[in-house]
Amino acid sequence: MKNQDLVDYLRSCGVCEVCQLRYLKARGSEYKDIKETLRRLDIKVNENEENVGDIVFPEEQPTKKARLSTCSTCLGLFSEEFQRELLQGILTSDFAKYDCQKIVLAISLPMVLQLRQLAMWFALQKRFGASVDGTNPPDVPIKEAVKLILHPIICEKLAKEYDANGLMINIDVTHSLEAGEVEKLVGLNREAFPAKAAHQKRIEISRGLLEKQYQPAKVKAEIFEKYYQIPCAGVEEPLKLVSIDLQGPLVCVAGRYRKLSRELSHTPWILNGQRLMEDSIEEIIIRNVGPHFAEKLEKINFMSSGREDVDVRCLGKGRPFVLEIPNAIRSSLTTEQAYKMEQAVDGSGKVSILNLQVVPREELTHIKTGEEQKKKFYRALCALKEPVTVEILQKLQIPESFDIQQKTPIRVLHRRPLHTRPRTIYSVKAKVQRGNPQALVIDIVTQAGTYIKELVHGEFGRTTPSFASIIGQAIDIQALDVVGIDLDWPPEVDNSPSVE
Ligand SMILES: [Zn+2]
Repeated sequence: MKNQDLVDYLRSCGVCEVCQLRYLKARGSEYKDIKETLRRLDIKVNENEENVGDIVFPEEQPTKKARLSTCSTCLGLFSEEFQRELLQGILTSDFAKYDCQKIVLAISLPMVLQLRQLAMWFALQKRFGASVDGTNPPDVPIKEAVKLILHPIICEKLAKEYDANGLMINIDVTHSLEAGEVEKLVGLNREAFPAKAAHQKRIEISRGLLEKQYQPAKVKAEIFEKYYQIPCAGVEEPLKLVSIDLQGPLVCVAGRYRKLSRELSHTPWILNGQRLMEDSIEEIIIRNVGPHFAEKLEKINFMSSGREDVDVRCLGKGRPFVLEIPNAIRSSLTTEQAYKMEQAVDGSGKVSILNLQVVPREELTHIKTGEEQKKKFYRALCALKEPVTVEILQKLQIPESFDIQQKTPIRVLHRRPLHTRPRTIYSVKAKVQRGNPQALVIDIVTQAGTYIKELVHGEFGRTTPSFASIIGQAIDIQALDVVGIDLDWPPEVDNSPSVE
């Protein structure tokens, strides 16, 4: 099959130049200058042809020639008119609201387009015989062509870059023939793929089914032709744009927080419909960071690498956290903006944040995985009934790691199942608190997930060994701070303005 013969035949069927190139299996940039590519492929180009799809119908209805300008296979999807309409539609949508540099088009196309590709496939087989394969489509599929042709054009006109994770422009397209053609497909489907048994459920018609099951190798041309014309008839009406919906990207903003208050919950603390604490770390961070990125703050998901109890502070470098922000209207954050947010959170007096930055979505795994393996660093203020002795102090200097068995504490049994878990304590180091001979300051390194309060007092033997069992007397915990978290993420960034 010669290229010229193929193109001549396609032209006689009312196929536009872009689609002619699709049937010549053109790749990427070859769609940029269509006439040039056709010439390079030794195709005689009609220089007077103004628009793609300006079709000559030699024998049929010559008077209608001017009106029949819709491509019979793409129904005008690749025409300049459609591009204009699409662009116009995007610009009159909420597009301006989104401050995102990257976009992706998601076009939902009617099935009539797929049926037309199929009809043309049959037609080419009929015309050119065995040189047209029955299982591999003879053209570059429409979906791929959208990526090769429409994407670059729209990106260029909007001055945006293509990115599969960018602002998603959902485009719904239909055609006046759709309903009628799909109805015929029901009949065809029954005949081409009869149910093997009466009780068997018929497979529902879908785009996926068309893609997988409908090809000349699986459906006989005679059966197809009973329902559809081969090649398909020309049409006047082009595709119709139904709607354009925008969906902003998922933006992830990471940082580290320090919890400075012993009266602050991690997330809103609500019991039996009543708020027990007026604020939370989650809310303070979201209300100061969220509005820059999204309109609906309630959709923002706050995650952190572990958490501390209401009365526990988190000091040192702080605890890594991430905000997952869906449908973001903005995906960038300057250091000035980040610094302002850090200052605003600090202003709460209860939480402070630093290293605030936008991070790639893939890096969320740092927060989500390996939690159990991580080390946690604590400082506990503990009290004895009597003054600390040298013997007690020595017993609480444990440089080597040891294992404990810990039953789920009674205080969390309402939300955690009862289990006995082994936990590793990596080191313990105690010293007497200055000015208080009955108090100990104990630095503890543990495996994540260890309940520290119970490790100290033992909770009636539910945690063994415990500091109480090690020293052989009662010991109580009065205050606890997290002083370090074993996660080197997100990277350190200094958002504060440099001192000149
Ligand atoms: Zn076309």
